[in-house]
Amino acid sequence: MMNNRENPIKINHVGFLTNAPKRFVFTGESQSGEFIVEYLKDTLYTEAFRGELKYMETDDGNGYVGDFSKLKAEGDYRISIDGIKSRHFIIYDKAYDNLARVLLGYFTYQRCGSELGWAGKCHTDDGYIAETGERVDLSGGYHQSCDLRKSPAGVVQGVLGIARYAAVQKPHWGEILLTDELKWASDYYLKVIQKNGAEYNTLNAPLGWEGRTFYESAAPDSAQWCTTSFLALCSIYFEKRDKKRSEKCLETAKRSFEYMTGETRRRDMYTHPDEFPMGMDPDNFYEPCFPRSGADYGYMAVVAADMYRATKDKSYLEYVRMGADGLCSMEMNDGLVKIWENDTASVTSRCFYSWIFGLYEGLCCAIELLPEAQNINKWKTMLKNYCDLMCNLASDSIWHATPRVYTDKDLDFRSGHLYEWMTHLPSIRETAGPFKKYKGLNYSQKRFITYPGIDMSFAVVLKKAQKIFGEEVYGEYAQSILDVVLGCNRLDASHVNAIGYNQVSQCPYGQFFPSTPNIPGAINIGFADCDSTSHSEYDMPCVGMCMYLISELENTFKKETDK
Ligand SMILES: [Zn+2]
Repeated sequence: MMNNRENPIKINHVGFLTNAPKRFVFTGESQSGEFIVEYLKDTLYTEAFRGELKYMETDDGNGYVGDFSKLKAEGDYRISIDGIKSRHFIIYDKAYDNLARVLLGYFTYQRCGSELGWAGKCHTDDGYIAETGERVDLSGGYHQSCDLRKSPAGVVQGVLGIARYAAVQKPHWGEILLTDELKWASDYYLKVIQKNGAEYNTLNAPLGWEGRTFYESAAPDSAQWCTTSFLALCSIYFEKRDKKRSEKCLETAKRSFEYMTGETRRRDMYTHPDEFPMGMDPDNFYEPCFPRSGADYGYMAVVAADMYRATKDKSYLEYVRMGADGLCSMEMNDGLVKIWENDTASVTSRCFYSWIFGLYEGLCCAIELLPEAQNINKWKTMLKNYCDLMCNLASDSIWHATPRVYTDKDLDFRSGHLYEWMTHLPSIRETAGPFKKYKGLNYSQKRFITYPGIDMSFAVVLKKAQKIFGEEVYGEYAQSILDVVLGCNRLDASHVNAIGYNQVSQCPYGQFFPSTPNIPGAINIGFADCDSTSHSEYDMPCVGMCMYLISELENTFKKETDK
């Protein structure tokens, strides 16, 4: 697709931190084979850097690539290639400050039952308990996406991103805005953990504006793991700001963790407690995470690490170790994780709203917190295997975009909704191809980001792996993932509303009226197949994951964090 606003010099629309790797793609023709980075000062441009364009023929398109990572001076810049000019971008250590603030604002707009939410004080009756007929106050929290869902698994992954960002970053607006959002979010998550430790579940029915049904039978396991982490992080955040809230969060996180590691927890694959309303997530979005599954081991390590940081209680470290060892026992080819023992399907193919790279983050936590562990080399090898596999495949994309990787069995997996107009539910084989083979695995040539939340969570893992192994190349691929989200892609389109240019139109669903507004900071779930007439949706896990990724990039790519 071409439009008159598209620029052939495809570059991150926002810009770069001073020490970040800096790369762009040029989709035009070049006679000179070189590019100039021009510095703008008092309306005058001067040459700041000159470099050679490299022509690349890749699995994912051909074109020129330029690298100016050596340019580190803060300033206002543009690229010039044979007289063609790029848009302006900045090199600045606060380049992502406004981005983070706008992303945070998305959550405020999505509040459910608040004067600050886009719908005002909606859903104040939420909490009709299906099993008992009682009403429990489960109002509050957030709508997830282009809908009114308070999806237990989707929303918390987003909210967890705020907590991860707030744990490290201190922007000038943070003390007021981050604190207020974490208060609103924790008010809700303190209500959803029942006395027995299980999290209330909901399918968000009835659709619309009435009070919705909740279930005592527990929420999907991936949801509750993330809720536990969120509460643990809130207990740390509020320790000096609001002692009472901090203690309540910790007490609730402990109760939830005990449930997740105890005897009364559901033992089998998750299934919905009721028929799901059309348009809501089918249960197989959540089924790969259950006790002794690959996904569960990963979550266990991450959440136990957060519990350890919140309590300093060393007994949690044993769960970090168990999680990392469990994950290693589930390794297949090159770091891919089996769903469960004796299976040949991988968890990585089932990443719907499951914070999938939680798996590999579990290994990072174990390596950091247990440097003397007996199996530390096994953990490192598995982490490195996976990062190398994905970077290798990303190197064959001009955008450095990571593909989805599948085992043969994964290709037969079917998920989604069987709508009346469909004859059957298509498999991954039918929807994600064409495929190429690499080391016995199938990877999707349709490389362009199809759910940026997944790619950004992998970028977080790459940043952690960069620190562990000292591999600069992991940092480069992590930056490229943010670059693709912020417009360095085939459509020259930013995935983030109100940040960058050329956003894709959003979907209207007609499940309720009015349709959801075009919220600033909303992140599009990907526009792999978008042309000028199609629409795409925005989604909360992507927004939270972007905040987490910004935080990880800011940790190492700023001047003051120079080694
Ligand atoms: Zn609401």
